[in-house]
Amino acid sequence: MQMYDIINDKRYGHELSDEQIAFFIKDYTAGSIPDYQAAALLMAICCNGMNKRETTTLTMEMARSGQMLDLSDIPGIKVDKHSTGGVGDKTSLIVGPIVAACGVPVAKMSGRALGFTGGTIDKLESIPGFQTALPFEKFINLAGSTNICLISQTGDIAPADKKLYALRDVTATVECQPLITSSIMSKKIAAGADAIVLDIKFGRGAFMKTYEDGLTLAKAMVDLGEQVGRRTVALVTSMESPLGYEIGTALEVQESVEVLRGGGPEDLRQVCLELSANMLHLGGKGDIADCRLLARQALENNTAYMKLWQMVLNQGGDTTFLNEPPTSVFTKPVLSACDGYVASLDAELCGTASMHLGAGRVTKEDPIDYTAGVTLAAKPGDLVHRGDILAELHTSDAKRIAEAQQLIETAYTFSERPPKPQPLILARVTRDGVEEYE
Ligand code: URA
Repeated sequence: MQMYDIINDKRYGHELSDEQIAFFIKDYTAGSIPDYQAAALLMAICCNGMNKRETTTLTMEMARSGQMLDLSDIPGIKVDKHSTGGVGDKTSLIVGPIVAACGVPVAKMSGRALGFTGGTIDKLESIPGFQTALPFEKFINLAGSTNICLISQTGDIAPADKKLYALRDVTATVECQPLITSSIMSKKIAAGADAIVLDIKFGRGAFMKTYEDGLTLAKAMVDLGEQVGRRTVALVTSMESPLGYEIGTALEVQESVEVLRGGGPEDLRQVCLELSANMLHLGGKGDIADCRLLARQALENNTAYMKLWQMVLNQGGDTTFLNEPPTSVFTKPVLSACDGYVASLDAELCGTASMHLGAGRVTKEDPIDYTAGVTLAAKPGDLVHRGDILAELHTSDAKRIAEAQQLIETAYTFSERPPKPQPLILARVTRDGVEEYE
């Protein structure tokens, strides 16, 4: 078999056989297919697509390119959650403890930040002492005995995706539905969960820019998960403006603690409760209405917060940090230059500003400044006056402020009248179909 023929077949829009896909993944992972040939095939897939069978084969080959974790020593149905990435998206820090507090084990591997979206692992590592690299046995033991353990993804989970994602990132081939589906689902399948809840984001701060594209991706991923024997549910949620008010690492941990203590911003709380309810439902805790109630109760009776506290303690973190807001060396307010309603707030620009302040990485070697980030003071729908604080910038490096300030100023648009409120959760996709929310 020749890589040239595989590229040529896809170039002319032909279906690839299972053998061709397996050959590509195996040999590319082993290093015997050069990047330029893999990049040509990826671009041909972007242009001509892949059908359901090809996408499923690609996903399973990528999943099997490394270790397939066995979580069967942890009692109960293990439910994983994945978000396609967003700004201010700290839902894993909140949803994990809620679900664990309700009796469903969360044995989760997460990633680091690259670009303008944050990574759960960087957020957890902002807690002094918190260990995200644990031996597999300890991961299983903690998840089995306490229902919760969150660690960083090892290099051995879907190594094909690791190589391909890095290549897609520099060849304009990230935004492609079968490639996103296989990338995310291969990691989730290899990480061993019995069931998967997906948060598919759309909008200015997401890969999918429109609701329709988000819904198409959600349907494809649910279909694939179910086909390979993993119960899968997806929510399609808006990422036009950031989730919550805090963007950064330690700043997002603090906001997560607020939600787990029963407060916090309404948008963040709403998405977390709906994701948790769906995880509990797949975890066998009842119908979706019962599970919504269970999730709410875990916030009200403090058991979800206690789960976070226990996880931090178990993984070597300093629990006192959970109640101490981080203080940065430099703080700078961004002021409104006009009177009016905030009409929109561009999530991508806010994420990029936070990254420039030091909370994210441009290359994967960049260190993170855990105190850096943006605290929003005004969000769409709020009335502001000239001179009011729109946001506060935090950083340890004063040279980073000017560029971030400009980005935040550009991120806000204003109107004379209040903007129409935008829905946050638009649809729930299950094997039974699409349920659109009011
Ligand atoms: N996240 C992933 O892990 N892969 C993609 O392709 C897109 C988002």
